[in-house]
Order: sequence, then structure tokens, then C-alpha cells
Amino acid sequence: MSNKKKILILGAGFGGLELSSRLSEALADRVEITLIDKNEGFIFGFSKFDLMLGHSTRPEVTYFYKDISKPAVDFRQETVVSIDPVNRRVTTDKQDYEADVLVVALGADYSVDATPGFAQGGHEFYSFDGAIGLHNVLKKFESGKVVIGIIGQPFKCPPAPCEAAILLDEWFEQRGLSEGIDISVVSQWPVPIPPSPDGTKAILDKFDARGLTFTTQKVITSLDPDRKVAICEGGEEIPYDLFLGIPIHRVPTVVEEAGLAKDDWIPVDDKNLQTKFPGVYAVGDVTSAPAPKSGVFAESAARAVAEHLITELTGEGEPKPFDGKGSCYVEFGDKLVGRMDADFFPGTRPTAPFAPPSVAVADEKKEFAAIRRKRWIDG
Ligand SMILES: Cc1cc2nc3c(=O)[nH]c(=O)nc-3n(C[C@H](O)[C@H](O)[C@H](O)COP(=O)(O)OP(=O)(O)OC[C@H]3O[C@@H](n4cnc5c(N)ncnc54)[C@H](O)[C@@H]3O)c2cc1C
Repeated sequence: MSNKKKILILGAGFGGLELSSRLSEALADRVEITLIDKNEGFIFGFSKFDLMLGHSTRPEVTYFYKDISKPAVDFRQETVVSIDPVNRRVTTDKQDYEADVLVVALGADYSVDATPGFAQGGHEFYSFDGAIGLHNVLKKFESGKVVIGIIGQPFKCPPAPCEAAILLDEWFEQRGLSEGIDISVVSQWPVPIPPSPDGTKAILDKFDARGLTFTTQKVITSLDPDRKVAICEGGEEIPYDLFLGIPIHRVPTVVEEAGLAKDDWIPVDDKNLQTKFPGVYAVGDVTSAPAPKSGVFAESAARAVAEHLITELTGEGEPKPFDGKGSCYVEFGDKLVGRMDADFFPGTRPTAPFAPPSVAVADEKKEFAAIRRKRWIDG
């Protein structure tokens, strides 16, 4: 019988892929890593803009897991149906697993039904199917009010609703339609990106230049699809012709049923992402770690877990704790991209200095994706 440690990673998104790559690089001769995901491949969150606008098809933006070629990593396309964190046992639609170390990296799900009227009267681009379906709706939309409503928080990638507004306006403009179309983002926050005053200013300047509106501190609670209004707390109504909602986020049901979540998300140790169950870790959007729900933070959390396990298994070095750092790229249209270098180090005030939109940063974003493809998938 092998005396290698069995590491079971649930979810092959930003967090799961980064963790499996790091462990494969450092510990291939000491561990057996099983990586499970229900999908056939990984797609970057930002590719949803390309799907929504019809710039790319789903296969064009998918990194297929069957291409993973990493020592000690075995990928299985299966759906996790139950997790027993006490005994580190997992059941999928195909088989049962037992692990020495279990890492939950299952991301955040959406709860469209939690907002009355949303499923009937609105659309979303936060899921891949939603983004693809929305393209057919956009192709037929020629004039009227588009409302991008951020319904709950926390939500993934805080700049994304504003990026969507800018890219949509540009897309309508290229079709000669932008004169007849008003786009607004409705947010619960006072500004687009609270920890980044310079990033916020750049976004609001771009909104002014394009005639877009950022409406602050409104909590949308329901839609009335017959009257085409979004209804806010206090009764205020926001009329729309096309409503694009950022749905309420929640932990996947399988995580909730496992008793891993408390106050909506999985609580973890800020330093090494360990849950209250020995040998069970959680990274990324599924946790309540003190950082935004973004891929780059899932990645830095995965790095911290990797460091911790490498030290534990080799008995060498000092693991670096979760640094809460991540650079978020922000689309500004005209093929220009800005960057927020966010720092959410646990226990300190978050900051996010801003690099203004440029071609150089747009190239950097392409490189960001290429580097991950090589590190996560290719051997
Ligand atoms: C429009 C948009 C733009 C974005 N832009 C950016 C950006 O520019 N930069 C950035 O850093 N982040 C961005 N994000 C956010 C980013 O996509 C997520 O925060 C990130 O993917 C979270 O990583 P994760 O590993 O926690 O979860 P995910 O990447 O969501 O991975 C979770 C995985 O678990 C799998 N899974 C779930 N349930 C099961 C189950 N029961 N069985 C098996 N598998 C399961 C899923 O298939 C998925 O592959 C964007 C998001 C959106 C919506």
C-alpha cells in the first residue's frame, strides 16, 4: 500500500487549480492529488464578457481539464454530492473517496430565485449559461433603459458590473445604437470600488464620458416584470427595459449540507485557511476569508494552503501566511485595461492603488491568462 498522503481537492477553479499545481511542483513524490470538478474545463470569469458580447464561443475560452498533465495529479470529472468533513469522506455521482487532507474549493453559487420576479423579468451574465443566453437577448435590444443591478453582497469581482456597463455601451455604440440606450449600474455601495479612490475616479470619469449612470446605496429586493420596474428597499422603483442582475451569491448546497458553513460561508483560519475540522481546508469564494470574491484572492489563498502543507509534509521552512493580495484587471473599453493592486491583508485596512487604463496593462492581462494556462494545465 502506498504511504503517500492522499490530498483531495474539490473544485478545479482558480483555487483548486493553483493548489494542485503548487503541490504537484513541490511534493509529487510524496502525495497523490485527486482533483474533482463537475465541468469539463475551466473558464476565466472575465471571459463571461466575451460570451455575453458574442466575441467568443464557450469552447474557445475553455481550458479543458483532460489536458492537465501534472505529476501526481489525477483529474476526475464528477459531481460532489456529499462531504463528511469529520471523517474526510466525499461521495460523488460516481464513487466514494477518503482523504488525509481535504480542500474545499467549490466557489460560490447563485440564488436567482431569492429575488422575486428576477427569474421571470431579468437576465444575468454571472454564470456561463447566463452570459451565453444574454447574447441572444442583446442582439434584439435596440433602445431603452438597461439597468445592471447588484442585488446582494458579497458578489464576485466588484469591478465587473461597471466593466459590463462600459463594454456594453461600446458594443451598442459599434452597432450605431448607443444614442437610444441608457445604461445604469445600481449598487448598494457609495462608490464603485470603496478601497480604491483612484480606481473609483477612473471608472466614474469613464461613466461621465460615456453618459452612463452609477446609482448608489440602493438595495433592490424584487422585480415586477409586468410593469418592468425594480423595487428597492423603502419602495422606490427603478424602471427598466432590460434588467441585468448580479444575483445573490451563496455557498453550494453540498457545502451547506455538510455543516461546513456558518453565517453563509465557510469560516477559515486567516493564516492557513484551515476549517474547524482537522485536515480540512477551504479556499476561494466558498469561504468568509477577509478578501473579495475574486480569482486572484482564491489563488493567493491556495498558495497559503500549499505552503502550509509543504512545510507540514517536509518538515522544512516556515509557511508564509495568506497575504490577502491580488491584482484585479478592469476593462475600460477601447481595448484598454486598468489594474487595481488590492491588499486585503487580514487585520489591516484594505487598499487598492490603481494603474490607469493602457495597452500595456491590457497585454499584461493576456499574459496573466497565458501564464495560468501553462502553470495549471500544461505539463
Ligand atoms: C463577470 C465576471 C468577471 C470576473 N473577472 C475576474 C477577474 O478579472 N479577475 C479575478 O480574479 N476574478 C474575476 N472574477 C471572479 C472569479 O471568476 C471568481 O472569484 C473565481 O473563479 C473564484 O475562484 P474559486 O476557485 O473560489 O471558485 P471557481 O473558480 O468558481 O471554482 C469552483 C469550481 O467548483 C466546481 N463545482 C462547484 N460545485 C461542484 C460540485 N458539486 N461538484 C463538482 N464540482 C463543483 C465548479 O464547476 C467550479 O469549477 C470574475 C467573475 C465574474 C462573474
